[in-house]
Amino acid sequence: MTALLLGALGLFLSLVAPGLLAAARWPDRAPAPAVVLWQAITLAGVLCALGVVLAGPEELIRAADGNRRVASAALVAALAVAAVIVLRLLVSLGGVMWRSRARRARHRLLVDLLDRAEQRHGLDVEGLRVLDGAQPLAYCVAGRSPRVVLTGGALDVLNTTQIAAVVAHEQAHLRHRHELVRESFTAFYQAVPRPLRSRAPLDAVRLLLEMVADDAAARRSGGDAVRGALTLLSDDSAGAGRDRRLSRLADQQPRSVALSVIVLVGAVALLVLPTLVVVVPWLSVAVSNWPL
Ligand SMILES: [Zn+2]
Repeated sequence: MTALLLGALGLFLSLVAPGLLAAARWPDRAPAPAVVLWQAITLAGVLCALGVVLAGPEELIRAADGNRRVASAALVAALAVAAVIVLRLLVSLGGVMWRSRARRARHRLLVDLLDRAEQRHGLDVEGLRVLDGAQPLAYCVAGRSPRVVLTGGALDVLNTTQIAAVVAHEQAHLRHRHELVRESFTAFYQAVPRPLRSRAPLDAVRLLLEMVADDAAARRSGGDAVRGALTLLSDDSAGAGRDRRLSRLADQQPRSVALSVIVLVGAVALLVLPTLVVVVPWLSVAVSNWPL
């Protein structure tokens, strides 16, 4: 029964919940807690898969009044499958982080070489690099020595307040280490077998992180400046879901504290409740009945 319950919960979390959450609009009012909820859904899905692998064989053998040898073989097989799942996730995470770090180091070197310091127009921003180019672009290169990169085209089309807003947006990405959150979801996406894989969490979290950075920029420079900059920057630079970001910035609704608290409590409950209600009772029965 435990394996069935965990299996049903795992299927819901990996196949149904992502679609529902990705289609919802309430996360726009609490983007940071919504990212935490996505993390809880993903982690709980993995824990459910591990729970099924470990509880399934044990329950089948107990139901069939299994003997010691079969039980031992089932335990070894279950632990091996669980180890493969965990290893696959860790290898994927390590690979994504290693490649991202190398790519960022190359990119940092490149923008340092191409920097047009004389085009900074007196901007005093730590790690700022200005590149030649008419396309209005702005982005950051994360890492121990981060860079905020603007093109000459961006400096031409944005006014002073909008430039401050763009810099605040990129600094929020760097300060909150958003690249680590993105990389963890990319690693999970790549670790999941192709038929079960969904881009919904990855795309939704990317958009929510943009909203978190928009909010930080709006607090410093005002929502109008962020909207103006978003409209003027090129599609590549504005990132995902520009229309949705513009409409929430225009909305001027205060961010909901109550909603944030509810979402965070839900995220914690998602991780804690299945463990308390399903796993702990199973574990106590399994340990007392195990024929070893
Ligand atoms: Zn951004």
